[in-house]
Amino acid sequence: MLAFRHWSVRNAKGLMRLYRVFEGTIAACEPIVRAIGYERLEKPVAVVERGIKGAMFDCQMCGMCALSSTGMSCPMNCPKNLRNGPCGGVRADMMCEVKPDMPCVWVKAWEGSQDMFGEASILDVQKPVDNRLKGRSSWLKVIREIRAKKDGQIAPAKASARDFAGDAIR
Ligand code: SF4
Repeated sequence: MLAFRHWSVRNAKGLMRLYRVFEGTIAACEPIVRAIGYERLEKPVAVVERGIKGAMFDCQMCGMCALSSTGMSCPMNCPKNLRNGPCGGVRADMMCEVKPDMPCVWVKAWEGSQDMFGEASILDVQKPVDNRLKGRSSWLKVIREIRAKKDGQIAPAKASARDFAGDAIR
């Protein structure tokens, strides 16, 4: 629901703090998750995730959550599913080109990210959506990634729009 979604953006900083605690807790549970089996847990965890994030963010269960980079405004609510900023069609009143009664998801993302200053990495370049992950839990994905980092399979640093801007200047 739009009102909850906007509440989440207005409270992005507090939600981010809460998420950091949550992330630490689920990461600590990794051995248990591994013992039970990631695939066995996939369905029940996805149901819980869908319920909570659906209510708070209108989550579409893309499976690769970007909320911590987008000021708690889910990019999948953009009718064009844009993951790296708005299209050129944002209206003068900051409403969506496709849905004129909805504020642009990316205008909201910018507002939320300003509240999360120092936390949100809105300038990080997001990967394209992998539709094979649709409906899957991004929480379990986070646990997997933390585990992979611990095992030394560290993912390459995320590219940032600042890097590209720097390249253009050089
Ligand atoms: S980015 Fe993906 S996982 Fe995160 S709230 Fe949006 S649809 Fe859900």
